[in-house]
Amino acid sequence: MDAKEGARERFESEREKLIALSHRIHAHPEVAFEERQAAGWLCDTLSAAGFAVEAGACDLPTAFIARAGAGPLHFAVCAEYDSLPGIGHACGHNIIAAIAAGAAIAAAKVADDVGLEISVIGTPGEEVGDNGGKIRMLKAGAFEGVHAALMVHPAPIDLLEPAMIANATFEVRYTGREAHASAFPELGINAADALTIAQVAIGLLRQHIRSTDRIHGIVTKGGDAPNIVPAHTAGLFWVRARTIAELEDVRAKVVRCFQAGALATGAELEIVGGDNPYAEMRHDHELSALYRSNAERLGRSFPQLPAMDRVAASTDMGNVSLVMPAIHPMIGIDSLPAVNHQPQFTAHCATEKADRAVADGALATAWTMIDMASNAGLRARLTLPR
Ligand SMILES: [Zn+2]
Ligand SMILES: [Zn+2]
Repeated sequence: MDAKEGARERFESEREKLIALSHRIHAHPEVAFEERQAAGWLCDTLSAAGFAVEAGACDLPTAFIARAGAGPLHFAVCAEYDSLPGIGHACGHNIIAAIAAGAAIAAAKVADDVGLEISVIGTPGEEVGDNGGKIRMLKAGAFEGVHAALMVHPAPIDLLEPAMIANATFEVRYTGREAHASAFPELGINAADALTIAQVAIGLLRQHIRSTDRIHGIVTKGGDAPNIVPAHTAGLFWVRARTIAELEDVRAKVVRCFQAGALATGAELEIVGGDNPYAEMRHDHELSALYRSNAERLGRSFPQLPAMDRVAASTDMGNVSLVMPAIHPMIGIDSLPAVNHQPQFTAHCATEKADRAVADGALATAWTMIDMASNAGLRARLTLPR
């Protein structure tokens, strides 16, 4: 039997279990680095399928590495499984997780025939925006010896090489001084004013940034009572740009806006985090093309919708892609007008269309790995010393 048919048969034998796994993770959303159940269920599934599983890899309780096959070529499929605060699996990471497990289980069936080792790298905490699971696992060596990394992410429609841009996330804290807001206001230092001035400055800054830059944030603490001058305020802000280099340029301007708030009010400014930004995703076009033809063989298509032209999210898979050839296509779940990070999208992530995405994404990824392993020229490129 041909390797792809072997992988398909293996996938079909696990299909119901994998769909159930997707639904179970969806029904029990766990936010970044707290994905204990999801990581446990994935480890159980892979272990039952014959993988050697290391739970709690890289000293991260909800990370894992599961390996099968003797190599010498070594591919990693990344699984994400964190949810979003308050709105559950609104990014469909339950689908990513089931695709990763399914792709690896299907390809493992023929791994020895095509000279492959396959790892599922369970990478927690993608939605945090700073020092995500993949960045920590890269540093800890989880990707050492891996020749290429793949993952598939759900979206409203199929996108082959979505723009994934660099991103820095940090917390801003102002400290002022309390005072009676009416009786002794002249004794107060208003930390809420500082945050307001910063946000006005950022609003004005928008004229002077590239159309591809993004700045967005929320106020997490605005004060305690209207009759107390706010002495402690805080916010979380994200700054994005096409590349890490452009990011540093726009980030410096945003930081000046926050300094302006401190200068105007006399409040003290503290910026916490942002030291481990997400890098831009560098899609490997040759691997993307293989994924495309396999996805098309399963009946998928990659429409060019104008609404998708300005799509620009971020992922710590970008950091992986700067170190090794990698792909991060999006798989459509036909959710429009619902889009990622909406509760309506959460509802779409456990439907029949979502289940089809699990099956198609797993099989297209498994077949892509088989194609990668079967192409002598590509094998040679992937195993070049880096
Ligand atoms: Zn996501
Ligand atoms: Zn997301």
